[in-house]
This record gives sequence, C-alpha cells and structure tokens, in this order.
Amino acid sequence: MSKPRVAIFDFACCEGCQLQIVNLEEEILDLIGVVDVVEWREAMSEQSQEYDIALIEGSITRPEDEERIKEIRKRAKILVALGACATIGGVNKLKNNFDLDEVKTCVYGQDAGMPHLATGMTKAVDEVVPVDFKIHGCPIDRKEFTYVVRCLLMGKTPVIPDYPVCVECKAKENVCRWEYNEVCLGPIIRAGCGARCPSTNFRCFGCRGYVENPNVEAAKEVMDKYGLTIDDLKQKMELFGSKQEPTI
Ligand code: SF4
Ligand code: SF4
Ligand code: SF4
Repeated sequence: MSKPRVAIFDFACCEGCQLQIVNLEEEILDLIGVVDVVEWREAMSEQSQEYDIALIEGSITRPEDEERIKEIRKRAKILVALGACATIGGVNKLKNNFDLDEVKTCVYGQDAGMPHLATGMTKAVDEVVPVDFKIHGCPIDRKEFTYVVRCLLMGKTPVIPDYPVCVECKAKENVCRWEYNEVCLGPIIRAGCGARCPSTNFRCFGCRGYVENPNVEAAKEVMDKYGLTIDDLKQKMELFGSKQEPTI
C-alpha cells in the first residue's frame, strides 16, 4: 500500500509552527517513516503537485495567496490549518484594524508602492477555502500536532478540546491571573495547551481562538468581580485578530 503523500505550505507567518515540526526530533523520523513528504520548502527542495494531505501554515493576505490556497485545496484530500495564523488569522490580523496604505508605509517606507509589496486584508484559511482540521496555537503544540497527524493516518477524527483554558488551569490549581489584576482570556479561549501561560505566571492572550460557545455571561461576572470593563477585555482580544467575536 502506498504511503499518504503530505505537503507543507506556508503563507504569511513567522514559520514558527513549522519549526515546531522540525523540532519533533526522534518523533519526526517515525512520522516520516509512514508518510511520503512530497513538498516542504523549509526542509527540502523537491516540489509536487500531487498530495493527499496539505498542512497550511500562515494567513492569507494577498490576492495571489487566495489563488494559491484554492489550487492547493483542489489537489488535497485533507487540508489542515496549522497554527493561529492559519486557523484564526493570528497576529497578522492586527493590520486589519488600520488603513492598509498607512500600514504599508509604516513597514516599507518609501518602497510601500512597489507592486511586489501589495497587500490586502488578512484572512484565516477557512475564510477562503474549507478547512478539514485545525491545529491551534501560536506556536502549535508539538504533541497535539503528532496526535492529529497520527489520527489522520489511522482514519480517525482527532478530538480537539472545546472547553475553556480555565478548565485546564483550575485542574493545575494555578492562582488566577485576575487576582494579579491581569485580564486573562482563559474563560473564553479553547483549551488544549495545558494552560501553558497561566501555569508560567502569564495571562492567556488567546492564541488558540475562541471555544465554540464561550460562556460570555461567566466572563462578564469575572470582569464585574474585578472591576474591569468589556472594553478592557476587547482590547486584549485584538492581539489574535479576534475582536469581532464572540459578541460581548
Ligand atoms: S501561529 Fe505563531 S508561531 Fe505559528 S507561524 Fe503564526 S506567528 Fe508563527
Ligand atoms: S482566567 Fe486565566 S488564570 Fe484564571 S483560571 Fe482562567 S485561565 Fe486560569
Ligand atoms: S494559555 Fe492561552 S495564550 Fe497561552 S498557549 Fe494557551 S491558549 Fe495560547
């Protein structure tokens, strides 16, 4: 039986999620043994137009990106969005809050008008093409990546937590960051990271995106208790391009 062909593609991103894959060390050898990696710019020079699983890192920011991702979608049987840039637009979505010409001038100065620097509103991958599975986080969690890929290879549907970070945080008996006057997004953000940030004395800043049905009322109660406003919370939600939702 032929091995499933896997291709990894990047769009607008820092490539930190691909680095997580490279850093899998021994485990990557096991994975490479059971799949054919046919394209992966960061790690090899070969290219291919034929693949079964496409792993997509990065967000869609230019018209040519849209054409490229549509082409990839046509070829891939399974398309997986990898990391916050791909799953929710990530930090790249910050630019959507500003005038794009101003953003370009700020970044590129007098070169801003050059055609190869054209840019558009940032989109998550599923704002352009259907996505079959999402591996959340900025960067992705290596264990979760391995788990999802193994599930796909065995024909199983991976189970990604759809409850808030607070659940994992409470299980670890962390002192809540709100007690330190920090606006932690844990009540409305998807778990699965093991409450990585609150467990190392940082607030959750939302890199895994919202749970499907965030408990907005509970979040409001927490804000009232600590004398903060909805605007305080919305300000913190902007970092990961998610200030439009949920409705708070
Ligand atoms: S999700 Fe984060 S780590 Fe991954 S590519 Fe985007 S910015 Fe980099
Ligand atoms: S709000 Fe943040 S620190 Fe508090 S329990 Fe939830 S995840 Fe933990
Ligand atoms: S605690 Fe929040 S910001 Fe930190 S890794 Fe988890 S989801 Fe991302």
